[in-house]
Amino acid sequence: MVQNQKSLARPIEMEGVGLHSGKQVRLRVLPAEADSGIVFVRNDAGNALVPASHRLLNGGNLSTTLSRGSVQVATVEHLLSALHGMSIDNARVELDGPEVPIVDGSALPFVRLFHEAGLRSLGKARRFLTLTRPVRVKAGEKEILALPDNAFHATYGIDFPHTAIGAQTVSIEVREETYADSIAPARTFCLLQDVEAMRRSGLALGGSLENALVVGEDGVLNGSLRFPDEFARHKVLDLVGDLALLGAPIRAHLIAFKGGHRLHAALVAKIMSTRSAWSLGTSDDRLPAARLAEFAHLKDGLLPLPVGLAG
Ligand SMILES: [Zn+2]
Repeated sequence: MVQNQKSLARPIEMEGVGLHSGKQVRLRVLPAEADSGIVFVRNDAGNALVPASHRLLNGGNLSTTLSRGSVQVATVEHLLSALHGMSIDNARVELDGPEVPIVDGSALPFVRLFHEAGLRSLGKARRFLTLTRPVRVKAGEKEILALPDNAFHATYGIDFPHTAIGAQTVSIEVREETYADSIAPARTFCLLQDVEAMRRSGLALGGSLENALVVGEDGVLNGSLRFPDEFARHKVLDLVGDLALLGAPIRAHLIAFKGGHRLHAALVAKIMSTRSAWSLGTSDDRLPAARLAEFAHLKDGLLPLPVGLAG
């Protein structure tokens, strides 16, 4: 059975503060037709439309921002991650401010609302972007290798010179169930020593212990973690969100080390500009095992993942 595109069965609504702007924003996510994709609508700026497309990416490294003309929608990555992770292809996202609410710093509040609203099949086939050749981006020791695969698999390694974080690797096949249980709850994080500098630059004005893990000299200031490797899991959450800008769910194994939004954006740009490296097809179109085997050896030893590739 070919998988069909989905949207929400009914609208969801929430209110919250933007992490960087500190502005209170009301957000609604509404059902949308097949092939319309994810489109942001700035209700406070003449209902300007800002599609979730790599073409409108105006990224920094701390968050992912979309710009169309003078209209921006900032910090889209956690909401896009929830939509991509829960296989919601089409939605109209209305907001009355410049930034998506940060809620608790994870994607779990969005996923819960999507579960409550329910999903609706749209009777039209979902188109997957299947990687057919490896694509690699690198910036110093930061690196992402994307390999052909018939599923969406993410392996993410981080290595912070900080005992509370340290070296962590998470490796997971991203499906609706694994996303909701193992990725969506992972919260964003920052180092206490960086908070003052961010505030001086006019960033993180809405940040608090309610919406980000803050790591101080003696450990996490927020109490207990949701997972021992919550930091690496949040990197996967961000990657799933940034890859939503490809415009179609990806089938590939992403192996990332020390990445961030800027490197994710570079990967998206490189995939889109390397037209020979991917094909669009339905869930029934699969790469033959022999083709996948050609690239399997690249998983060994190419990246200096701190605790090795798991799974
Ligand atoms: Zn994030």
